Amino acid sequence: MTDKELYEILKYSIKNVYKDMAEDERREMLDFADGYRKFLDNGKTERECVREAIAMAESNGFVPFEEKTDLKAGDKVYFLNRQKNIMLCVIGSEDIENGLNIVGAHIDSPRLDLKQNPLYESDGMAMFKTHYYGGIKKYQWTAIPLALHGVVYKKNGEKVEISIGEKDDDPVFTITDLLPHLAKEQMSRTMLEGIEGEALNVLIGGIGAGSDEISERVKFNILNILSISYDITESDFISAEIEVVPAFKARNVGLDNGFVGAYGQDDRVCAYTSLMSIFDIEAPKKTAVCLLVDKEEIGSVGNTGMLSKFFDMSVAELIAKLKGSCDMVSYNRTISNSACLSSDVGAAFDPNYPSVSEKNNQSFAGGGLVLMKYTGARGKSEASDASAEFVHEITSILENNGVIWQTSELGKVDQGGGGTIAMYVANLNMDVIDCGVPVLSMHSPFEVTAKGDIYMAYKAYMAFYKDR
Ligand code: MN
Ligand code: MN
Repeated sequence: MTDKELYEILKYSIKNVYKDMAEDERREMLDFADGYRKFLDNGKTERECVREAIAMAESNGFVPFEEKTDLKAGDKVYFLNRQKNIMLCVIGSEDIENGLNIVGAHIDSPRLDLKQNPLYESDGMAMFKTHYYGGIKKYQWTAIPLALHGVVYKKNGEKVEISIGEKDDDPVFTITDLLPHLAKEQMSRTMLEGIEGEALNVLIGGIGAGSDEISERVKFNILNILSISYDITESDFISAEIEVVPAFKARNVGLDNGFVGAYGQDDRVCAYTSLMSIFDIEAPKKTAVCLLVDKEEIGSVGNTGMLSKFFDMSVAELIAKLKGSCDMVSYNRTISNSACLSSDVGAAFDPNYPSVSEKNNQSFAGGGLVLMKYTGARGKSEASDASAEFVHEITSILENNGVIWQTSELGKVDQGGGGTIAMYVANLNMDVIDCGVPVLSMHSPFEVTAKGDIYMAYKAYMAFYKDR
């Protein structure tokens, strides 16, 4: 053996998913991404993702948990929480106290929410006021086509689902930005201050109607249109949840169609791959769980976020139906023997911005599934640091199943950082590690992922369900 050959064996080097990929696997990878793009187009909000997940689950044999009088190995059930949070389970052949294999992703994405009293008229234009949700670079949300998605409840209690801006003949909406000719002062501000939160107002109309007695004729016309089209009045917005999201569809990016470009890939790329992997699991030994949570982008809070008791309560229900009852000991054993892949995206190295990354500990688009032993910021603050034992267990499963993977931090040590659901899962007394798909332009209206990495995430979650 030459020194060069020995060095290749001894050193860690980042692999590439496309190297040595067989032709049929390459085709499967491309087909997989086509299905994923449809999922993104059908699910631009957490509610829509849950609706989509239920439709997909039911066509794969899953039924609501409540419909089952008893449970046996191989049964497929789901728990639904307030239309925004769902947990799918395939019952394993082993005792549930041996633990669950959980893949958890979040289905909320950064966006602009309409304020509760959003509509106003100014200078002949009708506008909606918004409050942004999650970490956005505000300037990225101006001068692009936007769509409105959400739900409004009418006075009679009837629910109205809104989706405007997705069909080819739908109108779209937009947030106007200043022309460069008049932006001298704006352009001299920092990017943080360039666009203010209160300036993220959405243009929704400009044609006035009605008699001269009405001072706000454009607003009057918009209220009339809303009344005729949806039978709602202005006060119905107070209880409504309407999200402003990019109006464009998911697209292939690159002459080789190598990437998916779309809104909301953080973290629907991991939601889709987790869903597809649990659908493809037959007769697992340990009970397989796919958990899709809301509110990760604002701290996992609320009754549909990871900090909600929904997960614990659903596990207790599972144990009770399998064993006749659920005591604290049984619950504790189940949880402490469980393991979780916190399937969330990582930051892919961006050749346009090399200075924020430390390349030896950075994920690359095309480098495969990215494992993040810890996230956190400034000295691992708020990180769930996975143990050596658990990282070794997971990487062994990946290696045994031919999954291409890489390790990463979120940028340079003092550069920034971030959190996921991992630390809250870890608090339950469970092994957990972040792993998912590297993303370019994360949190922007058009995030980019490599198709090979998406496919590897799917293969990784399958391997975890099958072998752990
Ligand atoms: Mn995320
Ligand atoms: Mn995020």
